[in-house]
Amino acid sequence: MDIHEHQAKEILAQFGVPVPRSGLAFSPEQAAFRCRELGGGRCVVKAQVHSGGRGEAGGVKLCDGDAETREYAATLLGTTLVTKQTTASGKRIDRLWVEEASQIARELYLGFVLDRKSERIMIVASGHGGMEIEDLAETDPDSLIRMVIDPAAGLVEYQARELSYQLGLEGQQVGQMVTVLKACYRAYRDLDAMMVEINPLVVCEDGALVALDAKMSFDTNALFRRPQVGALRDPGQEDPRESLAADHGLAYVGLDGDIGCIINGAGLAMASMDMIQLAGGAPANFLDIGGGASPERVCQAFRTVLSDSNVSVILVNIFAGINRCDWIASGVIQAYTELGIAIPVVVRLSGTNVDAGRKLIAESGLPIISANTLAEAAEAAVAARPPALAA
Ligand code: GDP
Ligand code: MN
Repeated sequence: MDIHEHQAKEILAQFGVPVPRSGLAFSPEQAAFRCRELGGGRCVVKAQVHSGGRGEAGGVKLCDGDAETREYAATLLGTTLVTKQTTASGKRIDRLWVEEASQIARELYLGFVLDRKSERIMIVASGHGGMEIEDLAETDPDSLIRMVIDPAAGLVEYQARELSYQLGLEGQQVGQMVTVLKACYRAYRDLDAMMVEINPLVVCEDGALVALDAKMSFDTNALFRRPQVGALRDPGQEDPRESLAADHGLAYVGLDGDIGCIINGAGLAMASMDMIQLAGGAPANFLDIGGGASPERVCQAFRTVLSDSNVSVILVNIFAGINRCDWIASGVIQAYTELGIAIPVVVRLSGTNVDAGRKLIAESGLPIISANTLAEAAEAAVAARPPALAA
């Protein structure tokens, strides 16, 4: 789950990261008020959308005084911002962050990510931060400094100092950098983050280190124990298909193939996608309907999968433990009635109430293709594709 820049800054500030004075605005008048609150001089107006690359896209602007701030805020609010990182439809700007302008001497890059290879939190840093960092990551990836953190020891002082020296910091900036690094690491650990990024982390002309931008994203599976993080969710910034699926308790990830998948359990979903590939097909999505799925939830899963126009076949694969095959079957039948399904549907049911489920399907009179095993289901789905795709 992503959050806004201003939310990330508020969190990081609580952990001890220095950030500029600033305030939130939902209207041009409020933005002008924020500017006056900061002294009425130069301030930076920043579109709050879940995306980076706002600077290049015109979503970040240095304004001189409250009149200019109001004017610029009026041009941004209510529009959508398309950046390198968004889709072509962009993200809606509903709020702005108005910040006192900083006198920048140097821009650094600092990120904390989960390194899957070492299974540890890793710091990625660069002495060349700001808007060019992505180019640098492509053209000269070796210039990025990487440092893996041992979870038993945590981020230790000497590591933090070493990183500061590698970034070319000296004197009192080293101490400030150590504070920033430790604060980010604490925030990452304490809040089950997946990513913390400060770009740019700037050295101001007076020598102070300040976070000018901040990005955090969180592990959705840990939100149940971080309600204060979950409260920061902004559905207005999410892909409507994925948030609709999430609202119905479905874990959905869109893929490139044409075989739509409705499966229970992440493990079985992964195995089914492998079996589809093995049979010569390609999955259109990952979808886990979860445990105890009601007919309505199954029907909603169909709706979600069918919203992808590439889907030419649907494969339903259920190994019911907590789930009930008769409920799944009712859901499939309900989907036919409510959604008018015109493509082949392969159903494989196994486990709790399987006989009742199969009976419902058999007696429905619908053209559902039944399969008994996972391999059979995958092969049937691949075979049921329109000839053009099967070629
Ligand atoms: P992003 O493009 O979405 O990553 O947005 P940023 O918050 O990083 O802003 C983009 C760029 O605007 C930064 O890399 C800075 O160079 C510049 N910028 C942001 N805040 C200030 C500021 O207070 N003063 C000045 N002069 N530039 C700023
Ligand atoms: Mn940035």
